[in-house]
Amino acid sequence: MNLTHIEHIGIAVNNLEESIKYYEGILGLKCYSIEEVKDQKVKTAFFKIGQTKIELLESTDPEGPIGKFIEKKGEGIHHLAFHVENLQGALKEAEEKGIRLIDSVPRKGAEGLNIAFLHPKSTNGVLTEFCEDLNNKE
Ligand code: ZN
Repeated sequence: MNLTHIEHIGIAVNNLEESIKYYEGILGLKCYSIEEVKDQKVKTAFFKIGQTKIELLESTDPEGPIGKFIEKKGEGIHHLAFHVENLQGALKEAEEKGIRLIDSVPRKGAEGLNIAFLHPKSTNGVLTEFCEDLNNKE
């Protein structure tokens, strides 16, 4: 498979507004997009540094994946997302090599990207996301 760069780092936060203050006020980054992903029961805020994004995730439902994550582990890094060429092919390859997939078929994530997750039990404890940007082929 062909990973090109770290697309984003997903960070679970209790409160999007409060967290944005840190990223903007202290780190001097600019939040360029806030988006709700209903499917994932989250509200997201995006920052860009180089070609990598920071994706803050606030849960909109305690039973959603981020709500459960924060309840168990508190705020912090939630997942690492790699940009990959040919997402479906990469998933197939990972599966053939014995990696447990959360999504065997790509779905729509924030920013209109096609995304899929690999299970952290197969990835040394790091919830791993693959993203493919079909709108913006580099
Ligand atoms: Zn993500």
